[in-house]
Amino acid sequence: MNLLTTQDPDRHYAVLIIGGGQAGLSISYYLKQEGIDHLVLEKNRIGHAWRNERWDTFCLVTPNWQCTLPGFPYNGDDPYGFMKKDDIVAYIDAFVASFQPPVQEGVAVTRLHRDADGVYRLETTQGNYSADQVVIAVGGYHLPVVPRVAEKLPAGIVQIHSSDYLNPQSLPAGEVLVVGTGQSGCQIAEDLHLAGRRVHLCVGDAPRVARTYRGKDVVEWLDKMKYYDLPVDRHPLGTGVREKTNHYVTGRDGGRDIDLRKFALEGMQLYGRFEGLDDGVASFGPGLAGYLDGADAVSESIKDSIDKFIEANGIAAPTEARYVPVWQPPADIPSSLDLQGSNISAVVWCVGFRTDFSWIEEAIFDGRGYPGHERGVTGAPGLYFLGLPWQYTWGSGRFSGIARDAQYLSEHIVAHRGRRQDAVGSARTTMSPSMSQAA
Ligand SMILES: Cc1cc2nc3c(=O)[nH]c(=O)nc-3n(C[C@H](O)[C@H](O)[C@H](O)COP(=O)(O)OP(=O)(O)OC[C@H]3O[C@@H](n4cnc5c(N)ncnc54)[C@H](O)[C@@H]3O)c2cc1C
Repeated sequence: MNLLTTQDPDRHYAVLIIGGGQAGLSISYYLKQEGIDHLVLEKNRIGHAWRNERWDTFCLVTPNWQCTLPGFPYNGDDPYGFMKKDDIVAYIDAFVASFQPPVQEGVAVTRLHRDADGVYRLETTQGNYSADQVVIAVGGYHLPVVPRVAEKLPAGIVQIHSSDYLNPQSLPAGEVLVVGTGQSGCQIAEDLHLAGRRVHLCVGDAPRVARTYRGKDVVEWLDKMKYYDLPVDRHPLGTGVREKTNHYVTGRDGGRDIDLRKFALEGMQLYGRFEGLDDGVASFGPGLAGYLDGADAVSESIKDSIDKFIEANGIAAPTEARYVPVWQPPADIPSSLDLQGSNISAVVWCVGFRTDFSWIEEAIFDGRGYPGHERGVTGAPGLYFLGLPWQYTWGSGRFSGIARDAQYLSEHIVAHRGRRQDAVGSARTTMSPSMSQAA
């Protein structure tokens, strides 16, 4: 689908938006309402991450009612359910059809810099563009992390990153080692386990959350408790929360807990953290019991805060017995695994992603690759980020908070539009082309 009617790569835009996921499309929605000349540049297809970087049985972890794209909240018949991959893609496509954003697909921005006139210059795989203001909406999951030790895996074993995992049938017959227990690791381990594959799972310190408690989805309680309105600067962890692993839980089959202890009872082999690989033998750290206890403790502490909220507000809610661990790791949990000797045919690395903003030539980064910003507004005039995890609130990098952040940035862009045009325009009139090149 190409939504742009006229393509002119040399044209100057008031605003260019890089990335056609839910974030880039959401800001386009507001800019279009304001009548601001803009274009969304998308490297692949709109909604690419949902279309192409999720496995076949993927479904949302967040309930459908939290899908509140601007002017287009979820209006299906299952608000408390969890959309599957195809439904999510259809939701994005319907959002796009509802307001027809100007989008150019198949255009990757390879370099972004500001010239001496203050104009943003974008080099792309399809020519050059320029703009007064630029919104970078490329998500926060760019480079799949695979540990260097992966190079030492025996050649006959297939290895993939979670973003390339499709389904159990796509992996060769045999047992599977899944490394990592964030959202993706736990759900992929479950997907393989439900398909009858023998799974070996390296567990880390990711927290978990119960799906429901005292008659409601925990997300609904947290929403009532205004957790999703808590700005990052008022969070007890401050901006440190941006580095925390997400809590694991699933929306599969209508939603349920992910309890790794239950998986162990059903035959999944759990280990501590993946530590290394030598001569085809993987080694694991000793912390399994502590990681399982830690995940449960987080889940129970969330229930504690729900109890307090219910009590403080006099809410009538059914009582519910607390979680009792259904399995404890025995003392002789293996600390190593001979991969080929154990018939491991595949390894799925579920250890996350890194950001890659190396194509952005502006001195706005913190030395570790994270952009300095205040609610997405950077120190470079007219340059913005949108859709970063915990950019402003929990929902910033998710469906639930993107409209609020996009609206905020749109208002900022409109307010600064005159000033940016004046700055760029006066630089153009007071400097000849040769002077501006020399500056
Ligand atoms: C496994 C997983 C599960 C998730 N589950 C949920 C969930 O249940 N609920 C929820 O609300 N959120 C969830 N999220 C978080 C979030 O909603 C998604 O990551 C979502 O895709 C973010 O949208 P986005 O527009 O910010 O970024 P993306 O969807 O990543 O979109 C960025 C776009 O930018 C394009 N792009 C990148 N670089 C360039 C470039 N240089 N030039 C041009 N285009 C470029 C990409 O092709 C992409 O289409 C999940 C995330 C992951 C990874």
